[in-house]
Amino acid sequence: MVTDKKDIRALSKEQLRDFFVSKGDKAFRGNQVYEWLWQKAAHDFEDMTNISKETRQMLDAHFVINHIEVDSMQRSNDGTIKNAVRLHDGLIVESVLIPTATRTTACVSSQVGCSLDCKFCATARLKRMRNLNPDEIYDQVVTIDKESRHYFNRPLSNIVFMGMGEPLMNYNNVIKAIEKITSPEGLGMSPKRITLSTSGIPKMIKKMADDGVKFNLAVSLHSAIDSVRTSIMPFNETFPLQDLRDALEYWYAKTKRRISYEYVVWKGINDTDEHIEAFVKFCKYVPCKVNIIEYNPIDDGHFQQAASEMLDRYIRVLEDNHIVVNVRRSRGKDIDAACGQLANKS
Ligand code: SAH
Repeated sequence: MVTDKKDIRALSKEQLRDFFVSKGDKAFRGNQVYEWLWQKAAHDFEDMTNISKETRQMLDAHFVINHIEVDSMQRSNDGTIKNAVRLHDGLIVESVLIPTATRTTACVSSQVGCSLDCKFCATARLKRMRNLNPDEIYDQVVTIDKESRHYFNRPLSNIVFMGMGEPLMNYNNVIKAIEKITSPEGLGMSPKRITLSTSGIPKMIKKMADDGVKFNLAVSLHSAIDSVRTSIMPFNETFPLQDLRDALEYWYAKTKRRISYEYVVWKGINDTDEHIEAFVKFCKYVPCKVNIIEYNPIDDGHFQQAASEMLDRYIRVLEDNHIVVNVRRSRGKDIDAACGQLANKS
């Protein structure tokens, strides 16, 4: 629905307080409404039961509460849930709930489509339409928290920014969303349970370090050899590995938090000893751990998961060099909910 009314969640708490004062009401009313909008995630002024009817009508005359709607939900046979969520302007993004024995992780999107063009990722085939607003990121988290309580009887425990989009290309809104997610006035989650995954934009990694963020950083590396990385992640031409390394050293010097590298091993692309050596060398620049991700085919046959002996070789050499390695098995493959498969197919 197109309307001239302003989205009330674009207002800060201060602005909301000022609004009420300008209407001759108490600033405190702003706090009450703010709590409804964020902590209670109300979608309708009518739900704000401790606010008088006149005030609710007045709010309704001035503002809308833009919010997401789950357009469709699919459940994988491994328990993973994929939500296609509709934004207020009709665009769709996807977010995923990933359950394990002890945790529920939300994988959220930060952009509609993506501005980068990683050759192995389905989202890259969608045009980047726009950045998500802070409330649209926040709402994905609230939705998955509700689903986790409903289906698994426990609250959401972790969040990864590994859905659609490149979070560091929508930095301000991602940071605002994380502020709300971690604030006691929002969801009160610990930043230690949040991981932002980036393809590696050096100047934004430095900015995050300067801004003193408290969440974890994951970098999608996939190759520590420039020419190969550029062939699969073309923006590497603009931000080569040396710049990425400088930024990661800067991040570690400031935050003292180790970095995770995400890495897929593909047949004929990075499945040689030369690649393993380059990766091990890169891992020694700053304290890190490695997540080897299983490749999820995106139906073009060009990229194929390397042989399991090659994966074992990677793991052995990394471990021999005292680097912590996890192998991340894909979840939700049957519903196209796994890493790199989010492309609004259904
Ligand atoms: N833009 C961010 C976050 C989105 S992608 C980033 O690049 O980190 C989340 C992770 O999935 C990244 O590590 C990405 O490289 C990986 N990925 C993308 N396509 C994939 C695929 N088809 N199979 C497995 N992992 C994939």
